[in-house]
Amino acid sequence: MEDTIFMKIVRREIPAEIVYEDADTLAFLDVKPTTPGHTLVMPKKLAENIFDVEEKDLEAVMRTVRKIAPAVRDAVGAHGVHINSNHGEAAGQLVPHLHFHIIPRLSREEFSNWPQKNYLAGVAAEIAAKIRANLA
Ligand code: AMP
Repeated sequence: MEDTIFMKIVRREIPAEIVYEDADTLAFLDVKPTTPGHTLVMPKKLAENIFDVEEKDLEAVMRTVRKIAPAVRDAVGAHGVHINSNHGEAAGQLVPHLHFHIIPRLSREEFSNWPQKNYLAGVAAEIAAKIRANLA
């Protein structure tokens, strides 16, 4: 698998504001924050995204997200956080190294919800059936 810019941060080859590190994960400030304190959490072992990550590495990442989310929130006086993750180019993933964004939110007014639609009749049941079949 190819190298990524985030692996260079793990190896300290490029600078980053690292806020937490353990044997399996690294957390550092996003260089272009959505809000101040915007932090990225990733596994040190390279996986591209949710489709190839090993469960134990994902579990380690989520433990780190759980550990540092309150520290991020409180560092900037926020009242909540968005925890977001993009998987695949179609979903806006720019860096092909699994990561979760922790984005502090001070108030409900500073963001818009994603647009939502209604299903046409029968479509929800059709898609749900396909998902269940894929899991069977
Ligand atoms: P995405 O892959 O769409 O989840 O976004 C990748 C994120 O990584 C973006 O928010 C970038 O601002 C951030 N980013 C890219 N390069 C660096 C870097 N060298 N240090 C910190 N954040 C970075």
